[in-house]
Amino acid sequence: MNKLLVVGTVAFDAIETPFGKTMKILGGSGTYVGLAASQFEVQTGIVSVVGGDFPNSYLEILHSKGINTQGIEIIKEGKTFFWSGKYHNDMNSRNTLITELNVLEDFKPFVPAGFKDANIVMLGNLHPLVQNSVIEQMSKKPTLIVLDTMNFWMNIALDELHAVLKKVDVITINDEEARQLSGEYSLVNAAKKIHEMGPKYVVIKKGEHGALLFNEGNMFFAPALPLAEVFDPTGAGDTFAGGFCGYLAKTGDISFENMKNAIIYGSNLASFCVEKFGTERMQELTSDEVTKRLQAFKDLTQFNIKLS
Ligand code: AMP
Repeated sequence: MNKLLVVGTVAFDAIETPFGKTMKILGGSGTYVGLAASQFEVQTGIVSVVGGDFPNSYLEILHSKGINTQGIEIIKEGKTFFWSGKYHNDMNSRNTLITELNVLEDFKPFVPAGFKDANIVMLGNLHPLVQNSVIEQMSKKPTLIVLDTMNFWMNIALDELHAVLKKVDVITINDEEARQLSGEYSLVNAAKKIHEMGPKYVVIKKGEHGALLFNEGNMFFAPALPLAEVFDPTGAGDTFAGGFCGYLAKTGDISFENMKNAIIYGSNLASFCVEKFGTERMQELTSDEVTKRLQAFKDLTQFNIKLS
């Protein structure tokens, strides 16, 4: 079975949307990526850190999905990373209310021996130095290294981010962050500039407006499935990345053509993630539901114009 190594936060999130408000619940970029990837027949391992306050029952949720947590360090006397965010009425924009790094402050990632030869490495949203340290611990060159990041890290560790970008094959980033990283408003120009920073493939996530894949003059667009109700968009971007990497890890094919399918899988899984608060929907998601919705994606985008 192919292996997918994920590094990212395993966190407490407190979320406020027009539909309600949660207390501290399970969240984190690594958690969402891992849950999405668990939809595929791949061995997934997460590298992260939590504090002594992190409930065992949350780790059990990951185990129940077959996710390897040997790489999640528990610092008994420390506190788990905490993030809190508030969404506005259109659900497309959010404000970060609180980011408490806590145990992440001095995090030294440890890649378990069994994952040092992972085929695909997903460097989830975390400090670029942590992302880089994971690359350096690999015993063999992964088939593909994918990196996700956000404005928080661009603001406090831009040089380190540029250094790690030179080593990655794919970046997944949202539109606003692509503009910030490149200094370009046009996403086509932004992708070009980001290519020059290292990644051969640039995936720009546009929330409810879908995702774009760029590679050396090739371009592909996948819509997001229009949903009647979006309950909580938290983790949609990470779920997208988990679906993208999980599918590529399962198929072992990293051609541009197959990446198109991976983008569709990512969009498909993200469309489920937003249907309930936090990770709830991803925990209960079945493969039948995933397959049915893939059909909806096909129906949404297929047309038969004759070009002659
Ligand atoms: P997304 O909605 O896909 O951008 O991801 C939301 C998840 O990212 C939440 O579960 C948070 O715990 C996590 N998160 C928020 N801020 C950060 C950060 N600065 N670094 C890493 N993870 C973060």
